[in-house]
Amino acid sequence: MTTQRAPASLRRRRNIGIISHIDAGKTTVTERILYYTGLTHKLGEVHDGQAVMDWMQQERERGITISAAATTCDWQRHQITIIDTPGHVDFTIEVERSLRVLDGAVAIFAAVEGVQPQSESVWHQANRYRVPRLAFINKMDRLGADHERVLQDIRDTLGASPLLLQLPLGTEEHFQGIIDLIDMQCVSWRADDAGMTPETGAIPPEFEEAAQAQRAALLETVAEHDDDLLERYLAGEPLDAEAIRSAVRKSTLSGALVPVLLGSGLHNKGIQPLLDAIVWYLPSPVDVPSITGVEPTEETAAERHNDPSEPLAALAFKVALDQGRRLTYLRLYAGCLEAGTQIYNPRTGANERVARLLRMHANKRQRLDRAQAGDIVAATGLKDATTGDTLCDPAHPIRFEAIAYPEPVINLAVEPMTNAEQDKLQSALEKLAAEDPTLQVQFDEERGHTILSGMGELHLEVLIRRLADEFKLAVNVGKPQVVYRETIQGEAECSETFDREIAGKRQVAEVTLAVAPAASGAGLEFAGTPPEDAEAPADMIDAV
Ligand code: GDP
Repeated sequence: MTTQRAPASLRRRRNIGIISHIDAGKTTVTERILYYTGLTHKLGEVHDGQAVMDWMQQERERGITISAAATTCDWQRHQITIIDTPGHVDFTIEVERSLRVLDGAVAIFAAVEGVQPQSESVWHQANRYRVPRLAFINKMDRLGADHERVLQDIRDTLGASPLLLQLPLGTEEHFQGIIDLIDMQCVSWRADDAGMTPETGAIPPEFEEAAQAQRAALLETVAEHDDDLLERYLAGEPLDAEAIRSAVRKSTLSGALVPVLLGSGLHNKGIQPLLDAIVWYLPSPVDVPSITGVEPTEETAAERHNDPSEPLAALAFKVALDQGRRLTYLRLYAGCLEAGTQIYNPRTGANERVARLLRMHANKRQRLDRAQAGDIVAATGLKDATTGDTLCDPAHPIRFEAIAYPEPVINLAVEPMTNAEQDKLQSALEKLAAEDPTLQVQFDEERGHTILSGMGELHLEVLIRRLADEFKLAVNVGKPQVVYRETIQGEAECSETFDREIAGKRQVAEVTLAVAPAASGAGLEFAGTPPEDAEAPADMIDAV
């Protein structure tokens, strides 16, 4: 393990998440980002199953993003690592662990639907981790698109202060581009080059008045949060774009304001300004507060400052199987990590050797000799580290707070097609459970079934499909059953919002499944005490 001085390049690093409600356009927007930053050479569209970020076969088929895929791209000499996080409530936990390691986020809202329940819960999760955010109002081309209404939703429902940086140039199907209220110019995109070359020009006279008024509102809002700018604004001094951007950056980092941009991912409009805004306004690893370890010893409770010259400290935030290989995703908070070195895991009290370090791109993996504070990388060779573990320099142990998980809400009985496959099933489920802390697996000796407990029907359906696709294991499944529990374990660690969301989900599951009690699966054991009038489980087993 080696150390070195903090490189200037750390300031040119952005680790961001893209968060939103399902269908708001996260995958489409991420695809466009990869296209314009030169990582992909073909625009993949979600509906034709071409999206590069959705690399799992199922994601392609279902058009949803299941696991957080990290990808790194370059823009304006900055390195941006994007974690694409799922919008479906069954995978909320993926969002949770991503937020834990990211420095900033882009929240995507659809211009017609606005703030939806899942955008609200993800927003509150991000508040809990104090993640500075930008908002991107997507689908500005759609009939009924209304960015003003979305801004009002952001104020009323999310309790945030949006700062509109652009006006739309044209509405609905005539949406051609944006009016940039800082540079006071128009930016539009042509269809014939897939939006590759933004064209800038003067603001057309019919938009001039609205643009001036909106710019004045923008300056007033920013000045309220920046004394220098306020003084210059009140003195009537002309304000240059750089001074305005620097003030917007400050208020974004402090969480006081949320800059808002407009666009249409599908029609390739507004993506380059979004990339500029990520670089200009979202934090680099050196802008985020230092992180302090937790008890029990003084040494493990030390501070780390996102500095490569300190002893190594990293958080494992995701374990994933990648073509049969176990990948441990790490966020480095201090020090440097070289491939082939030993790292210490305070939870197990043992050292483990990192075999390879990989930087994940959308469709390829790049081998690295070393990684440093601020980096998000995937390591191979780690067998015992699980999600939430701290990994550190053996001579300087530290332990970060673990990631809190809610208890499962749905049970499902499964059994292999033949008894001979029981061991294979067990081993496959162990691998999947190592990757997914919200999956619990128990063997019911009496009935000879394995019980899977997860966060929702989609969650368990996806796992069944993964057994078939990745492990070539077809299984018989019972009917899903609600897990009955009086309280949610780990309540103290989870926020109130998060608990409410899970509790709400449990209620929805109870209502949905109560509609067909006779269809409950045989052999299923309730995780808690079932209500007295609960139906005796009927026959299970639908072949998949
Ligand atoms: P995600 O679930 O948030 O990842 O959303 P997707 O990127 O999968 O998009 C959901 C649907 O909206 C897909 O059918 C997209 O083609 C469509 N879509 C995405 N962006 C836009 C847009 O800017 N305008 C329109 N009209 N449709 C869009």
